[in-house]
Amino acid sequence: MAQAPDLVIPAPPPVVVPVAGGGGFPVHRVYCVGRNYAEHAREMGHSDREPPFFFLKPADAVVPVADGETGVIDYPPLTADLHHEVELVVAIGRGGRDIDAARAPHHVFGYAIGLDMTRRDLQAEMKKLGRPWCIGKAFEQSAPIGPIHPKAATGLLARGAITLAVDGAPRQRGDIADLIWSVDETIAVLSRAWTLQPGDLVYTGTPAGVGAVRRGEVMTAAIEGLGELRVAVR
Ligand code: MN
Repeated sequence: MAQAPDLVIPAPPPVVVPVAGGGGFPVHRVYCVGRNYAEHAREMGHSDREPPFFFLKPADAVVPVADGETGVIDYPPLTADLHHEVELVVAIGRGGRDIDAARAPHHVFGYAIGLDMTRRDLQAEMKKLGRPWCIGKAFEQSAPIGPIHPKAATGLLARGAITLAVDGAPRQRGDIADLIWSVDETIAVLSRAWTLQPGDLVYTGTPAGVGAVRRGEVMTAAIEGLGELRVAVR
């Protein structure tokens, strides 16, 4: 068998999210679901039910934040309208393709609180031009995440409040039960388009109340059963 060639530059380090109770979850890909709460879809100017659609962020956009700590992200370049989107994140522990919704729970390792940080002005411009959203969504440090809570500890997460406050002022509020496409349905649809792998993260969409966050402010995101995620913008 041929030897792998020596690397001519250092390999990128793996991105590892801490797991509540111990261990680390290595990140493979980051999938995100667009417009998955009716009220948020309306605030973005769309009517209720459409097939789920997806975009991706690079794995190294993930900023793991340990339990009890306040993560820090830098205000990104090229924007004057950085938005917060609090989301339930599903961590895939077992890969697969063409997964039935009924079998989807077997592929879930656990859950976390995540932020889908968005350069809303750039995203809006790309939408208008019919161009990809990458520059609005897939930038560095755009995916902060709290510890992953194993499903073995939380049970299946199908309801519970999801909220975000900025400097203590409530901004976003919803309930996981109000996802247009449930976690199981999302996994089923995703796995028809991509082969899911252990290490994939799925940001499942944000409830209403998205808005701008500025330098010096602190976001506190919470999901019932998963604790809190605090992230400061510098
Ligand atoms: Mn989002």
